[in-house]
Amino acid sequence: PNGLTQEAAGQAAARAYELDRRHVFHSWSAQKALTPMVITAAQGCYVWDGAGHRLLDFSSQLVNTNIGHQHPKVIAAIQEQAAKLCTVAPQHANDARSEAARLIAERTPGELNRVFFTNGGAEAVEHAVRMARLHTGRYKVLSRYRSYHGGTETAVNLTGDPRRWPSDHGNAGTVHFFGPFLYRSQFHASTEAEECERALAHLEQTILFEGPQTIAAIVLESIPGTAGIMVPPPGYLAGVRELCDRHGIVFIADEVMAGFGRTGKWFAIEHAPGVVPDLITFAKGVNSGYVPLGGVAISPDIAATFDDRPYPGGLTYSGHPLATAAAVATITAMAEERIVENAAEIGARVLGPGLHELARRHPSIGEVRGTGVFWALELVRDRATREPLAPYGGTSPAMTEVVAAAKEAGLLLFVNFNRLHVVPPCVIGESEAKEGLAILDQVLSLADKHTV
Ligand code: PMP
Repeated sequence: PNGLTQEAAGQAAARAYELDRRHVFHSWSAQKALTPMVITAAQGCYVWDGAGHRLLDFSSQLVNTNIGHQHPKVIAAIQEQAAKLCTVAPQHANDARSEAARLIAERTPGELNRVFFTNGGAEAVEHAVRMARLHTGRYKVLSRYRSYHGGTETAVNLTGDPRRWPSDHGNAGTVHFFGPFLYRSQFHASTEAEECERALAHLEQTILFEGPQTIAAIVLESIPGTAGIMVPPPGYLAGVRELCDRHGIVFIADEVMAGFGRTGKWFAIEHAPGVVPDLITFAKGVNSGYVPLGGVAISPDIAATFDDRPYPGGLTYSGHPLATAAAVATITAMAEERIVENAAEIGARVLGPGLHELARRHPSIGEVRGTGVFWALELVRDRATREPLAPYGGTSPAMTEVVAAAKEAGLLLFVNFNRLHVVPPCVIGESEAKEGLAILDQVLSLADKHTV
């Protein structure tokens, strides 16, 4: 699709690979053994590798390209903005930034009508935490185990998974608690209602024992993504809101991955009707990653803290014109083309039922979780004991084999430990979803061979 002959594309890919291995330092990886796939082109729900193979992108490139690859309206908006005005310092106003802020404010729940722009998700979390600390005059921040909040210093310390460990210097003020996750319940619960009640009681105890007057914020993914797409039980987010209100704690909903259509709503918090956080962090889907962008949507109360007192933080590229022009085009196209509705519909009618059907036939699937185009398959060696197919924080030959076979068969997955994440673009159609499900069906037979 990029107009090159296969030979030219192949040569370009070979050079990209060689230079990558020589000069590029990759995220979250031991560098030596890496063999990154070169992606040469993309369109809609598909990407092409250096050998010209087409792969169905069930990863959305780290769960970010909600509108699909190479959407013509977003490309045109970036091109038009580039021709008009490429860069504006943060202290000036600019039409792309103003319009993007309006479109985001219109979609956030409640009155979160002010937007601070960042370059990505981790920076959004950093700034949300700073705002909460300055607003409350308190320092501690509570976050859940089994979460991901980003790779920068505060964000990685808040992260509740093994990616925190190597850079955890005991960052003062970070406290972790267990959130609801019935399949691997910390609370010996056997129903969602029990799990919800006990998880809230545990959070309340954590608050009381840490000292409410020391806690600035609770940061929570509305639906934890990277950590396993654990849709919270009904009542949990309302319970968190109530605890925050009772103790004067700022509720930060991290919607970096779950926001902008991924779950079949503009924001995942909308699955808990009436629950309005004080701050929402976003990135990824806001412009589908066509140009890096993230931000924080801010409540009037917290915004007012900085009415007469300067906000001590900023970024050269806060609300960069190319990134915000891409956001305006993305949000507009998502609304016009009913892309959020599509995510909800495909999830409810095709992906959800299709994945549950796979679970009936494949003993390696321990649990299917998700909503919209946001699903995880929890793979296990033993359904009875729920022993995972790869250890927490690690991988296994079985997982590697499944992922490689999927790729070979033309399906790109997002994988974490013992989980296959099914997270295609929100624009996915029924036939593409079924194509991916058929490949999953095929490769899960390999995982089944590793079950007891
Ligand atoms: N929060 C959540 C919930 C995320 O999923 C991510 C990224 N996967 C981040 C924060 C960090 O975003 P970024 O990689 O853009 O810094």
